[in-house]
Amino acid sequence: MNCVEVRARLHPYVDGELTVSEAAEIDGHCVECRPCADLVSAEREFRRLLRRQPREAAAPELRGRIVRRIRREAIVSKRRRWLPVPVVAVAAAIVAAVLWPARTPPPLIVDLVDKHLAYAQIERPAEVVSSDSRELTEWFQSRAGLRVTVPDYSRSGIQLIGGRLAEAREHQAAYLLYEKGRTLLSVFMVPASATDVPLPGRRVAYRGHDYVGYERKGVRTVSWTDGKAVYGLVSMLDYNALLECADRLRDERARQTRL
Ligand SMILES: [Zn+2]
Repeated sequence: MNCVEVRARLHPYVDGELTVSEAAEIDGHCVECRPCADLVSAEREFRRLLRRQPREAAAPELRGRIVRRIRREAIVSKRRRWLPVPVVAVAAAIVAAVLWPARTPPPLIVDLVDKHLAYAQIERPAEVVSSDSRELTEWFQSRAGLRVTVPDYSRSGIQLIGGRLAEAREHQAAYLLYEKGRTLLSVFMVPASATDVPLPGRRVAYRGHDYVGYERKGVRTVSWTDGKAVYGLVSMLDYNALLECADRLRDERARQTRL
């Protein structure tokens, strides 16, 4: 078995779903191949972390602290604007951040938050490491037949790290990883069939589009759907930044669809 074949079976392998002989072939390959062995241990570590994520929602006092912190950050962010956006849009986003922390997120979003937190703790969260949007687009296409839009946020100081395939509610999802400084930004694209749409919760309009935001375990999420896919951004970045990233992904996606 070569590296490509091993990596195509990575998830069923660590989940113990392969036949004994297939698993033995991968064991053998990993003895010789350090990169594949590293992938296997990263994937195992990831599953271990996922199991460790607490299932319970934040306690009320913690929730209160988070809400107060968001309000403070919303005020601070007016001063240090992260991206040059029109004043009206910034004002709208700040209102969103104050009113938002929506109710309990739907299971899909809970799942994405857990994945984000787990990936934020592992050494090599990306399955394919690249800062080149085109290369990643091609990787998703050849690896899984997915047509994925990979936005470039580098002018805003948010660097593309890479991508991976992820499972969300038993659906195959595309997962893009970015970082701003040491803060991870996760961008998930999941088939719309993985959840009930529209997503429940209060909607907020940003530049003419609707989004739903949830706050969970200290991270923020911004989500929307275009009917075919659900998009979810997860990060400790503030809502202004997330909405701006969401808006750009949406623009880019619309542009690609027109081509
Ligand atoms: Zn290998």
